[in-house]
Formats: sequence, structure tokens, C-alpha cells
Amino acid sequence: MYYNENTTIFLDGKWLKAKDASTDLYAQTMHYGTGVFEGIRSYYTEDGAMIFKAKEHYERLLYSAEKMHIRIDYSVEQLTELTYQLLDRNNLTNAYIRPLVYLGQNMSLQITEEVHVFLCAWNWERYLGNKQLKVMTSSFQRPNPKSCFVEAKVTGHYTNSILATTEAKNKGCDEALLLDMNGFIAEGPGANFFYEKDEKLFTAPLGNILAGITRQTIFELAQELEIEVVEKFFTPEDVYGADGAFFTGTAAEVAGIESLDGRKFNARWEETLGATLSTAYLNRVQKKEYKNFELV
Ligand code: PMP
Repeated sequence: MYYNENTTIFLDGKWLKAKDASTDLYAQTMHYGTGVFEGIRSYYTEDGAMIFKAKEHYERLLYSAEKMHIRIDYSVEQLTELTYQLLDRNNLTNAYIRPLVYLGQNMSLQITEEVHVFLCAWNWERYLGNKQLKVMTSSFQRPNPKSCFVEAKVTGHYTNSILATTEAKNKGCDEALLLDMNGFIAEGPGANFFYEKDEKLFTAPLGNILAGITRQTIFELAQELEIEVVEKFFTPEDVYGADGAFFTGTAAEVAGIESLDGRKFNARWEETLGATLSTAYLNRVQKKEYKNFELV
């Protein structure tokens, strides 16, 4: 699914066939989850493939690495340039790009100097699909920000996400929604969360969540479309009976939510601010907006 005979990857300064590349079973990241990574998308535009917000994603990768005491010898510009080469070598335009920085052999609990930089890309449909999602409040909380750097995208943090999504799927839902350690809604396992009430949008403030790049793009689009977005703490009870809700993330883009804990939202998705922003988002990432002086 992620690669075939011809797929080329970048690993530690070399271009290799994915099928010929390997890693060390004694790598620290394999045992303890001390890697950092990104999830980026590129889109076909009339100017060719465009990596959406490459700078923001690679700045976040370097931030995540710094928080984990991992040294990366590449700049944001170099990583961006390598990613365009990666797309080119694999003939990809609409792609999901996965940079992973992982550490070499070390069984101690000290960070090692052996740092590997791996870039790969593949065609990936919208992560949560196109239908409106049935979501449940998870019994798992997001990690306490005093236990880790929640704004860093660290491989090990995703054990929490996998537990939450697995629980939700086992209970017949499409996705989970996790609370923070104070019982307020934080975010999904791999996406930020917004809800709509009385023509305003609400989302959790930074502090207990990943600072999503899509979340930030929604703020920018909402401002342009004169939609008010309020950052505040709220509980599942505040969300029940709201007009609509959606997840935002690079992989998921803008994904509409049908219900939370079995309670349906009031408005039809097509009539919500989320649907308007979903269209605006797709136009922005594909550089299609304002071509005909209107959003399509
Ligand atoms: N929260 C979590 C936990 C995530 O894994 C992601 C995906 N990176 C997001 C939010 C959304 O972030 P972004 O919009 O930058 O993809």
C-alpha cells in the first residue's frame, strides 16, 4: 500500500528503493518511541505539485526534534527541497509525505547521537474518508503536558492515539475524541476538533493539544470569510446539541462529524460552517480559490 517495486525514498543522504532499505532492530526509536515525524500533503495545482505549508511542517519537525534532544543536520529549506525531489522521483503530485527522524542503536534511556532522516511519500485518500463520522468521547485522555511535550510530534505519543481509535472502532464508532487531564475536550487521535453553535466556531486553546497546521489554516480562512472562531475550554455536554462539528488535520483535511456519543448534530453537514470551510480549504491547498472571483 505504501510502496511498490519502483518507490524511491530518501534515507540519510541517499536515494534508495524502498524495497531495498532496512533499519536496525536495535534502534532506540523502535523500542522506546523516541522518533519525531511529520505528516504533510502536496497537491496538484496549475503550477505543478505544491507542498502545502512545507515551511510550517518542517519548522514543527525541527521543533519536535529539539524538544526530544535530537540533532537534525538539515534546514527547513533543505528538507523542503528534498521533498520536492522525492515527489519528482516518484512522479507524485497529490501525495501524503511522511518525514521520520529516528535514532540508532541504543538500549539505554539516553538520547543517542545516531540520527536517521527518512522521507517517503505515497498516494493517500482522505484519512477519515468522506462520510460524516460517528465519534465517541474516549476513555483515554490526551497525555498530560507535564508528562511530555504535547506540541511535539513524537512517535511514542501515538500509542495513546492508537488506543483511542481502537477503542472507538471496537465500539462501532468511526473515531475517538479525547479529553485533556481536566476533562475538557482536547482533540482527536490525529486531528484537531471544532464545533459550531449559533454561527460561531469553538475549538480548544493550545496547551493540551498538537498545534495543528490545518487548525491554523482554518483560523485564517475563517477570518477571511468573517466566521468567528473562539478558543476556549469546553466539555462533551457543551457540544451535545450543537449545530455541527468537524476534525481538521493534514491527512483528514476537514472531516465532518455526524454525532458525538450517539447525539446527532442539528444541521445537515452541507449547511454548516464546517462544510463551507472544507470547500475553502480544498480551494486553498489546490490554489484554486478566487480564480473565478468566487469560492467553488
Ligand atoms: N492532533 C494530532 C494528535 C495529530 O496527530 C494531528 C496530525 N498531525 C493533528 C492534531 C492535526 O495537525 P495538522 O493539521 O498539523 O496535520
